[in-house]
Amino acid sequence: MSVAAGPLFAFDNSFVRELEGLYEPWQAAPAPAPELLVLNDALATDLGVDPTVLRTADGVDVLVGNTVPPGAQPVAQAYAGHQFGGYSPRLGDGRALLLGEVLDARGQRHDLHLKGSGRTPFARGGDGKAAVGPMLREYVVSEAMHALGIPTARSLAVVATGEDVVRESMLPGAVLSRVAASHIRVGTFEYTAALRDPELLRALADHAIARHHPDAATADSPYLAFFQGVVDAQADLIARWMAVGFVHGVMNTDNMAVSGQTIDYGPCAFMDVYDPATVFSSIDHGGRYAYGNQPQIALWNLARLGESLLPLIAPTQEQALEPATAVLRSFTTRYEDRRRVHFGAKLGLADAGPDDDGLIDRFLNLLHEHDVDFTAGFRSLSTALGEGDPTRALFADPAAFDAWGAEWRPRVAAQHDRDSAEVAAAMDRVNPVYIPRNHLVEDVLSRGTFGELEPLHALLGVLAHPFDERPGLERYAHPAPADFGDYRTFCGT
Ligand code: AMP
Ligand code: MG
Repeated sequence: MSVAAGPLFAFDNSFVRELEGLYEPWQAAPAPAPELLVLNDALATDLGVDPTVLRTADGVDVLVGNTVPPGAQPVAQAYAGHQFGGYSPRLGDGRALLLGEVLDARGQRHDLHLKGSGRTPFARGGDGKAAVGPMLREYVVSEAMHALGIPTARSLAVVATGEDVVRESMLPGAVLSRVAASHIRVGTFEYTAALRDPELLRALADHAIARHHPDAATADSPYLAFFQGVVDAQADLIARWMAVGFVHGVMNTDNMAVSGQTIDYGPCAFMDVYDPATVFSSIDHGGRYAYGNQPQIALWNLARLGESLLPLIAPTQEQALEPATAVLRSFTTRYEDRRRVHFGAKLGLADAGPDDDGLIDRFLNLLHEHDVDFTAGFRSLSTALGEGDPTRALFADPAAFDAWGAEWRPRVAAQHDRDSAEVAAAMDRVNPVYIPRNHLVEDVLSRGTFGELEPLHALLGVLAHPFDERPGLERYAHPAPADFGDYRTFCGT
């Protein structure tokens, strides 16, 4: 590795400074022939970097890990994790590096991370590499999530390395550069708690509080308040996932960030026909991470965080257990509140209360019974407020929808401060027209893998404005054709 000339990013590496013992300094493997496949110009600008500089050969060398930019201190972060319920005491960044923390123009701190950058001390049996397809999937889906208003890590670039990686076949390799509030995971706390070094655990918690839940610092019990902050952030995050039909696919504790952002996109996908049992990941045989299980799994993961925090919460485990359990239990109510807010808004209700849960559930049941596409079903609802309602036609038995509509319309009309045009406009701001549909994602990934990048850029352009219906983009709004079949995604790829 060489050092690039001139400052690029404004680095300030607090994790490395404050948390020795939770990382290994490391460098990326050289990429023989880097080629920029996609760059997020707007994100680069937000990070205070001129995108034209990143497009130069020197810039691409930074994005692929060939050059360490001034101020960066690349490390592989250590963490543990429960994977499909089983504990692994040492996972860590096996094929990723934290390059450093970038302060943007507003002074906000972001991790700049590389994925697919070669083996690290945490690589175990893995090759440390990534293929173009899965890195493009993370890019497309994370940027779509961002445009949908969902807290998420974002993607800065995908650079092909010029080297093949061995998967089921030989595939072109790539490095994804991604940006997140941090990559501190539930698994980071599990790893640190297992070291039985109370000062390091406290330092990690203080670090995470300062970065993500600063109000907790001045609470009576800062670590309990931190736990509550993570519980609340996750409750809202999962409710938002559910409201767009997102299935993360691998909600292991090492893939859950304490910031409340969505991270580590692997075998993720969006549900088409509404079915709570929807699973896409080829390795999730038991459906542990099915769409409908996501809230319970979040709670399960948060229990692991709570256990890790016990030594900080009170001098003895007995004393810590009761308040920590109370915080954990608050997840369910909090989740239900947030679900009501997000699904209520999808139904045109700005003030949804517990009495509306039945209305929400009955609509979801209708979608399920009639095999209606989740995204199209909700999007169509704003038209069902007016004359000549096309929504009915989505249901095998339109009369079933009529019965539900007869209950729903008066409830919407009871919001006297908004007329139906305003309600319809508000619904269209939360019910997307365009999501990363599986058949479209597969198509751009397979073409992109072999250098055809136009379809990728076109899809990214559509997904950047998911709520604005535009003429000529009909094919992006349509569900997969019938012959697309049973969709499976692959993890660890
Ligand atoms: P994931 O399920 O992708 O979040 O990864 C789980 C763990 O496996 C993490 O510790 C990763 O760093 C590691 N891992 C996944 N793929 C590879 C790979 N190709 N080489 C090395 N480590 C990997
Ligand atoms: Mg992961």
